[in-house]
Amino acid sequence: MVRSGKKTVAVIGAGMVGVTTASFLLRKGHDVVVLDPNAPGEGASFGNAGCFNGSSVVPMSMPGTIRAVPGWLTDPMGPLVIRWSYLPALVPWLARFIAAGSEARVAQQARALRTLLAQGIETLAPLVRDAGAQDLVQRRGHLFVYRSLASWQKESLAWRLRRDNGISWDEFSQEELRQLDPNLSRDYVKGVIVRENGHTTNPHRLVTRLAQAFQRDGGRIERLRAIGFELAEDRLTGIRCADGHVSADAAVVAAGIWSKPLAAELGDRIPLETERGYHLMIRDPEIAPRIPTADAEGKFVATPMEQGLRLAGTVELAGVGAPPRWERARVLLDHARRMFPALRAEDRGERITTWMGHRPSLPDSLPAIGASRRSRDIVYAFGHGHVGMACAAKTGKTVAELVSGEPTDVDIAPFSPQRFR
Ligand SMILES: Cc1cc2nc3c(=O)[nH]c(=O)nc-3n(C[C@H](O)[C@H](O)[C@H](O)COP(=O)(O)OP(=O)(O)OC[C@H]3O[C@@H](n4cnc5c(N)ncnc54)[C@H](O)[C@@H]3O)c2cc1C
Repeated sequence: MVRSGKKTVAVIGAGMVGVTTASFLLRKGHDVVVLDPNAPGEGASFGNAGCFNGSSVVPMSMPGTIRAVPGWLTDPMGPLVIRWSYLPALVPWLARFIAAGSEARVAQQARALRTLLAQGIETLAPLVRDAGAQDLVQRRGHLFVYRSLASWQKESLAWRLRRDNGISWDEFSQEELRQLDPNLSRDYVKGVIVRENGHTTNPHRLVTRLAQAFQRDGGRIERLRAIGFELAEDRLTGIRCADGHVSADAAVVAAGIWSKPLAAELGDRIPLETERGYHLMIRDPEIAPRIPTADAEGKFVATPMEQGLRLAGTVELAGVGAPPRWERARVLLDHARRMFPALRAEDRGERITTWMGHRPSLPDSLPAIGASRRSRDIVYAFGHGHVGMACAAKTGKTVAELVSGEPTDVDIAPFSPQRFR
């Protein structure tokens, strides 16, 4: 545990994870400063699908995932691409990813994920209320749709993991699905709604509102890029920044994908990799689903948002520095038209915008939460991969407990930053 009592805490990164962590720290009476060279919520937290899915306990690497990869890679509309020039750098991460996909390990990972995902919306609720952001969070469930019963059956292990972790759902036949959402393609033969799930109608605005409330309540946000740590023996005294220095006696590293070099400076070689994802927004769409709707085979989500219909998904393994490949986002438009045939076929792009972001992913689909190797005053809160919006509240509350020297509600052992040897 870090020192107890009131502390000056620097939170590095103003994404969803950093801002919620900072807000919980402030509520515990600490003096909190958030450091980010950019405005809040401009990283991965900007353009995600916005889903607060308590049901997202299914790790990315599952038994059989590796067998599906060749088919995905050869399908131009498939959910995965690898930039081949990046493959040599990726091999160690991929090896760990494959090893993480055994039936025994995915059961453990799902259990651990559930501890961060369950009650996520309830945990976030006080922050949302205080920020006056209730209009940005809805809880109407999440619909998964399948084009064949075979693909539904292929996901039986995923649904078993959900059931084993206390998640319940309602199933719909082809005919019932039609009544549920008449705009959906008739090709879908099976639907499943998880009612505990919710979503935000604008992730960027949600983070911005939470950050504004944090500042209103006495927190500080400085436009600074952290580049290292100042330590006296193993005690933290400050953060080195690109343009100066910030005194602090505790720090939280919540810089998403950009956390890796900061952890490395502290002796933690953490296999953090970017799973780049894209979104495509359609302003004033002819139709939109009432609730987020995920195509199980296409592995994308259609989320109704303030600014229109957002299609989000796909994984591109290409590293942090490679330029975006916008055709990956355009693929989402083809998917959208297959999901909602009434969407206008011709589109010259005037109502369409695209975005690319970096999911900060560890090979076992679990984040790194816990103290650094070099100093217990520095706590990690990154690596939430596909579920950082949904896990942010529980992570933030847990990290605030850790920094305050309190026992944590959540068992953090599975998230140990030192689990990768
Ligand atoms: C297409 C797509 C769809 C997704 N859909 C969902 C979804 O539906 N539900 C869900 O739960 N998750 C989803 N995710 C994942 C989710 O977006 C991420 O897990 C989450 O946003 C990560 O938040 P973060 O705060 O850790 O990182 P970020 O939001 O990336 O924030 C990191 C911040 O750190 C700052 N920073 C970087 N370097 C430094 C530095 N040196 N010093 C100071 N600050 C620094 C950056 O400027 C940035 O603001 C999706 C992701 C993608 C790409």
